[in-house]
Amino acid sequence: MDVMKLLLLPTALAAACQPASDAEWGYAGTAGPQHWAELSPAYALCREGREQSPVDLARTDAVAGPRIERRIGSTVLSLEERASVMDLVDNGHTIQITNDAALSMDIGGEHFEFVQAHFHAPSEHTLDGKRFPLEAHFVHQSAAGRLAVAAILLEEGAHNAALDPIIGHLPSATGERRHLEDLELDMDAVQPLPERYFRYAGSLTTPPCTEGVKWVVAAQPRSLSAEQLAAFRSRLHHNSRPIQPLLGREIGFVASQ
Ligand SMILES: [Zn+2]
Repeated sequence: MDVMKLLLLPTALAAACQPASDAEWGYAGTAGPQHWAELSPAYALCREGREQSPVDLARTDAVAGPRIERRIGSTVLSLEERASVMDLVDNGHTIQITNDAALSMDIGGEHFEFVQAHFHAPSEHTLDGKRFPLEAHFVHQSAAGRLAVAAILLEEGAHNAALDPIIGHLPSATGERRHLEDLELDMDAVQPLPERYFRYAGSLTTPPCTEGVKWVVAAQPRSLSAEQLAAFRSRLHHNSRPIQPLLGREIGFVASQ
């Protein structure tokens, strides 16, 4: 990882998932999602926002109407490159991965660079009301500081070899950071370009619940084995925000062919 990136990353990460200097928040009791807005004025959007995440994604709602067809036509999504340096950290809220991947995503002509990936168990988004045991978030940021998150839902099934480098180096305690110089993480395999996906305007799913986040959620869940799921669950303890109301937002459904 080059020096420039090391300097830039903490800022980007703070914007994405770690409000380090703000009030402590969690997923249960008085620090739980229903109370986030009460914990700090900086978290007001968690209650007052109009475009909050996660949401339920229903194909039946998404495909209806010609306006969405046009939006699908103008969408470009692409992923590139692979990583050789990776940092894994258990920050108390999730397991987070940063690396030096030149991974990027173009959405509707806007360019977003990969910042970090992390996991939620169980899933935050639901498909037609169905919740999945695990969800991966790949946080991207544009030069202007706008955020886009690509999400993949994971269900128990066949072994997912792409996840082995992550599972093999999971931090064993909160606050632990592992710096892995020589580990190859094939980001194309971890986060494959989805053929079908949902798009909508949402927010961070953690305080400060910042809005203006472009969400891209793969419509086809991917699998991982029972053993792999158990490994994630041993480090993630129900770090999922409840479903938020759409409040008139449209869900776009995009199929590449
Ligand atoms: Zn997340």
